Amino acid sequence: DRSQPAIVVENLQRSFGSLQAVQGVSFSIAHGQVVGFVGANGAGKTTTMRILATLDYPNEGTVKIGGHNVVHYPAKVRRLLGWMPDSFGTYEHMTVLEYLDFYARALGYKGQERLQRIQEVMDFTDLTPLADRMSNKMSKGQTQRLCLGRALLHDPQILIMDEPAAGLDPKARVELKQLIRILAEEGKTILISSHILSELGEMCDSLLFIDKGRIVHHGNAESMTQGTATETTLVNVQ
Ligand code: ATP
Repeated sequence: DRSQPAIVVENLQRSFGSLQAVQGVSFSIAHGQVVGFVGANGAGKTTTMRILATLDYPNEGTVKIGGHNVVHYPAKVRRLLGWMPDSFGTYEHMTVLEYLDFYARALGYKGQERLQRIQEVMDFTDLTPLADRMSNKMSKGQTQRLCLGRALLHDPQILIMDEPAAGLDPKARVELKQLIRILAEEGKTILISSHILSELGEMCDSLLFIDKGRIVHHGNAESMTQGTATETTLVNVQ
């Protein structure tokens, strides 16, 4: 249902003991937008994104993905959404192909369709030549592409990526950006976090800045990177 925004977050709050990790976050993302989620370590990016991805729950507030409340309709949300976590666990005994096959089966794909989904994902992420490579014997860039491929197996409309560029060398970073650009051109809605503003600016239609669990800015990417935002704001979030 594209009449509703892809993502609506209202007054989201999440605490861990006495620590208020997310303190009333609200934002909305239209379909087809690429939005950067910028904030320092510990600002609350991962906590927010995990709630969007149905992996954690809010103490207060609501999140709707494609119009579905994440708490009440997690299965519907998961069908619409691909999640790329910031740390990636591969299984030592699985090749790239076996790894994708494992997840494709878990998603319920069968027979020819399963093979097609896996092949499409391997082609897109340029992992076809590495199909038989052990998944724990790859570069960081290749590993991130496998993680992205896994998130794309069910061809989700919405993609949430937690610090996908962290630890990548410049070449791998460019490759990842190209893939994100293609996904954006296909019309996917993408939320990408980073603690480095320059990693996101050029890829994103707009940027959300989070600091100590609160959104401190939500703006057009150009105005943000061209200095409309105050220096203090940018320093605070880096
Ligand atoms: P990073 O870039 O380091 O991942 P972040 O912006 O994603 O930063 P979060 O991971 O959301 O930040 O963390 C926000 C705060 O909540 C941090 O102080 C963190 O230690 C705390 N926190 C997150 N998850 C938990 C948890 N499960 N239990 C206790 N504290 C947590």
